[in-house]
Amino acid sequence: MTETTESAAPLAAAATVAETKEALLWVAQEMLRSGLVEGTAGNCAARMPDGNVVLTPSSLDYLEMSLDDLVVCDLDGNVVEGHRGPTSEKQLHLAVLAAYPEIGATMHCHAKHVQMFAVTHQPIPAVVEEFDVYVGGDVECSDYKETGSAELAEEVARRVADRAAVVMANHGLFACGKTCKDTMHIASLVERTAEVVWGARALGPIVEVPAEVGAKYASYYRYGRTGKF
Ligand SMILES: [Zn+2]
Repeated sequence: MTETTESAAPLAAAATVAETKEALLWVAQEMLRSGLVEGTAGNCAARMPDGNVVLTPSSLDYLEMSLDDLVVCDLDGNVVEGHRGPTSEKQLHLAVLAAYPEIGATMHCHAKHVQMFAVTHQPIPAVVEEFDVYVGGDVECSDYKETGSAELAEEVARRVADRAAVVMANHGLFACGKTCKDTMHIASLVERTAEVVWGARALGPIVEVPAEVGAKYASYYRYGRTGKF
């Protein structure tokens, strides 16, 4: 999680088809570089200016992945561009992007400390201030649903609600934001907080952020996402 990244994130919010694809390729490879996944695990998606969605392909080494390997689907899941099959978690990404028009990018990864919460079916509590600001509050753990299923897509999409992440039971992490760069930030913050909570519980009882402060900071997250407090 703490390894130095080898390339800078695209600075501007993705605005064109080409920029969106470049941002998606960056975040897919950054997941691997940051230790959020191993091998070909994990997947990412981003909404394009025309409303279609670009996704990572199924079972391809991230370090060999190029822009040509990305797959474009419509929100119904029909492939409209690309010579590879889309990620097996296509439905997961499309369900969230269809349900929340203000979300522009999604990521699913296997962050190690988040998986500790996933296998114990525990939420990750918002016990550091920035967690409320960037994630919107405690991150729920979903009910268990099989990987790649429509039931998993529906379950995670429902749990996103006004948060930027969901723990996927016995599996991993789902993160979302306006841009691919946001999803990397959210996934890293949730993973680090999961590690902090795990360690803090060994030291002693956790002292919560005062409720009124947490609620205020969570409202900043909602405003950033929806334009409304
Ligand atoms: Zn997975």
